[in-house]
Amino acid sequence: VKKVDSTTVPILITAWLQNGVALDPRYGIALDGLLASQLREDPIPLKQEIDNSNSKLGLSASQPKEFQLPLLKCGENEDWHWLATNGQSVDHLGRPFANKIKNENKTKSNKDSRKANPIIKIMAPAMQWHAVGNLLEIKTLLENIKSIGAKRGEGEGVVIGWEFNLVSKADNFIFGHTHPDGSLGRPVPIECAKALGISTKTTGYAGLRPPLFHPSQQRLLVIPSKKISL
Ligand SMILES: [Zn+2]
Repeated sequence: VKKVDSTTVPILITAWLQNGVALDPRYGIALDGLLASQLREDPIPLKQEIDNSNSKLGLSASQPKEFQLPLLKCGENEDWHWLATNGQSVDHLGRPFANKIKNENKTKSNKDSRKANPIIKIMAPAMQWHAVGNLLEIKTLLENIKSIGAKRGEGEGVVIGWEFNLVSKADNFIFGHTHPDGSLGRPVPIECAKALGISTKTTGYAGLRPPLFHPSQQRLLVIPSKKISL
């Protein structure tokens, strides 16, 4: 079912940050994941928390519950995804910016830990996303989020304000896949990369749609060549 109506618009979303944000450099912060975290009854969006709480979240189920997000869908086959990007850190003028101040290798203590979980902290005034969706519904969900990224319990990623700007004349398809600077803004299926005219050489396994870390969501996708858009 293609969700296209007059309330579905291209939106530039900005989270103004108190001190920056800590995150997993392999994935960044996906807007669809943020929205989905608000639709859980018991929001636990951190990857390490999900890994440690499989049974609690029902992640042993072969097919997780599909979230209905207020976003336009891209794709008609089973490998569709939501038209929204992973965050790009920016300066006060919206230019890509990041000052990485530390790189921690946090090794999980539980017995089934698979690998070290790198966390970096980025000092930037803001993070931005592109989304194609319903402004009012997106705004309502995001404004409940007071902090983003990893280590929120330690005071990282505090959001001091959300800003929403409609972008007129944007092409929904291009807008929903790319950062404001035009670079690839999220992991995408190969068909999307081809349609965007982006090289399909850099691939990696990543979640297609929320719950992003669920095994059933892992696909070989074309990923931004910079592991995180800085
Ligand atoms: Zn796509």
